[in-house]
Amino acid sequence: MIVRKKILPKTISDGLSMGFILIIVPLIYWFELWVVLPELYEVGSLWYIVHFIFGNFLMINIVGNFTYTVLSDTSIRHLILSIKNAKIKNGWRFCSSCEAVAPPRSWHCQICNTCILKRDHHCIFTGCCIGYNNHRYFLMFILHLFIATTYSFCYNNYYIWNIINFEFPLSIVKIIFPLAIFVFGFDDSWEQFYLMLYIVSVVGMCFTGALCIYHFHLMITGSVAYERNHGNQKYNLGWRHNIEDALGKRWFITWLFPYINSELLNDGLLWETNSSWMNNLKNR
Ligand SMILES: [Zn+2]
Ligand SMILES: [Zn+2]
Repeated sequence: MIVRKKILPKTISDGLSMGFILIIVPLIYWFELWVVLPELYEVGSLWYIVHFIFGNFLMINIVGNFTYTVLSDTSIRHLILSIKNAKIKNGWRFCSSCEAVAPPRSWHCQICNTCILKRDHHCIFTGCCIGYNNHRYFLMFILHLFIATTYSFCYNNYYIWNIINFEFPLSIVKIIFPLAIFVFGFDDSWEQFYLMLYIVSVVGMCFTGALCIYHFHLMITGSVAYERNHGNQKYNLGWRHNIEDALGKRWFITWLFPYINSELLNDGLLWETNSSWMNNLKNR
């Protein structure tokens, strides 16, 4: 992995979104394993240990995939020296901002100030672009966030509705504005703090669920957001090839740990289209 040199967020919205993730993920982890779990199962019992291990497995994947997404350099910067003399052909173009030729499927990001290989989008929560070299980690990051928030949701319901005395209409206001009620001191009890974490995890579950549907559909159909928006399906080479293209040759175990090596199919410079792919198949 080539490590990105400047990993600090470059805009205020990137900084705030990244800060939110760095604060809320450890808080919810603490809430689930140190507050909710001991209330539901006796500490040291079999089910307590099973949930504790699974919770830590999810946390390792969330933290690890987030870190790898942020650290991976998916720009063309490290390739500029080797490609600056390349001829502009087969979809290559000249980027005046980078002052270099850039390969097909790469796009210039104004925030990152470089062209990104197979650029999908600029993610404000990781403060970087999602492209060829960090696509796998981003997909696994949102997948594990979705699993973790859904898993939390199931158990939080047992816990949270037992500790809250429902009083109409005050409880409705507390549920709709949990953060404001807590921050402005209308109710600074632990129960209100837990309710705030519960609501944040429910919103996170819906948000990451929608993200997973959108981005995994993109991955299976072999396109990035820009190509999909412009009806470009020419890089769709079948679901299996598309998945390997994003997750690497050992795609079937990438969900286990971010540290598992899964070599990518190429270097993000050469792209077969489905017409050339079909021709190659016929000629074999
Ligand atoms: Zn550029
Ligand atoms: Zn970017």
